[in-house]
Amino acid sequence: MKLLKKYTLYLIRWQLSTPILAIVLKLLSNMSTLTATIIANLIGGLIFFWVDKIIFKKKSDVPLWEIKEDVICYDCHKKTKGYRIVEWGNYDRTEDKNPQYRCKDCSIKKMKMIAK
Ligand SMILES: [Zn+2]
Repeated sequence: MKLLKKYTLYLIRWQLSTPILAIVLKLLSNMSTLTATIIANLIGGLIFFWVDKIIFKKKSDVPLWEIKEDVICYDCHKKTKGYRIVEWGNYDRTEDKNPQYRCKDCSIKKMKMIAK
């Protein structure tokens, strides 16, 4: 995501927190301003942590590879040096619990599939 687009999104996101803050502060108007603000910010934080995470997620334009010695290729079952694409644009296997490694040839085929 380009910086200007990210910056604009971030400013819009701050405006989105305005109604939430206003509503919560209104609902909690019988409380002290400090307590109500703490609660409102807590609610905002619970929501916007996830929104900000999406806004600031860096997407790589080039494939990010992980290379591992002595693995069994996921496709041809050959014992080899293994390759896998961890992240590439919208393709994201950073949290993959069972990562699939492939030999050089199979990993190139897989890469072409992802590129489509
Ligand atoms: Zn293979």
